[in-house]
Amino acid sequence: MKVLTYMYNGSTSVGILKNDGKEVVPVNYLGCGLVSMAEFIASTDAEKLQKLERNKELMIGIPVEEIQLLSPIVHPKQDVICLGINYYAHAEEAARFHDEAFGGERPQPIYFSKRVNRAVGHGEPVCGHFDIVDSLDYEAELAVIIGKDAKKVAEADAFDYVFGYSILNDISARNLQTSHKQWYFGKSLDDFTPIGPWIVTKNEFENPPALPIRAYVNGELRQDSNTSLMINGIAKVISQLSQGMTLQAGTIIAMGTPAGVGMGFDPPRFLKAGDVVTCEIEGIGKLTNEVH
Ligand code: MG
Repeated sequence: MKVLTYMYNGSTSVGILKNDGKEVVPVNYLGCGLVSMAEFIASTDAEKLQKLERNKELMIGIPVEEIQLLSPIVHPKQDVICLGINYYAHAEEAARFHDEAFGGERPQPIYFSKRVNRAVGHGEPVCGHFDIVDSLDYEAELAVIIGKDAKKVAEADAFDYVFGYSILNDISARNLQTSHKQWYFGKSLDDFTPIGPWIVTKNEFENPPALPIRAYVNGELRQDSNTSLMINGIAKVISQLSQGMTLQAGTIIAMGTPAGVGMGFDPPRFLKAGDVVTCEIEGIGKLTNEVH
């Protein structure tokens, strides 16, 4: 099931796609009330999803041409948890670009976070902040959306806590990321977290999902990998983090990016105003944004 947040007639709603994505059925037509995506996720289990899946077929939806798509989670309640250097080929290209910032041994996953004042949706512009950024980069990533509070979860049970998946572009200012040593500032500028186009519920995938992941800049293929090639997998990450911090329903975990980012090229190929970036994960969709 594809669950989205959209604007229609001046109000923001949560809906479910039907009819091969041609129509959106608002979840309040289905007895869920006027909920935000965070409320929808926290109040929905597998049984309820099955019921919604059946009932949506009985409703006439809104044609998708008439809605404006927003990021499925426009205002994340907490920071987005991110994995750094989680595909081997990306580890090599990052160390080639800046060994001090990205090289070295990594016996454990690298976790960092992004501040997200407002998540950018599919089709919305991204500000490149070119007054302070000279090396703007893209990173196509699988985003895991936690469905219920996870505390001291065993790896074997980790997928019980997943609501679904989306695509996240972990936009990065390499000059800020490397000069400040800590990645937080260079990853957290306004607009640096496009998420979308929607969330696909986990029942549509195997555990863990093994999906082709790609990024294009102005139509040119730059990243081309598979989510099965992560160094640290979803179950390990949920289990490890939840031993010490409760992962609340609605938490977003960005699982890291494969090789082919701009800093991986020689010379680097960073983004400029007017560039159009598309991140694609098969089975989820495409997330496209133009840099301004
Ligand atoms: Mg990243």
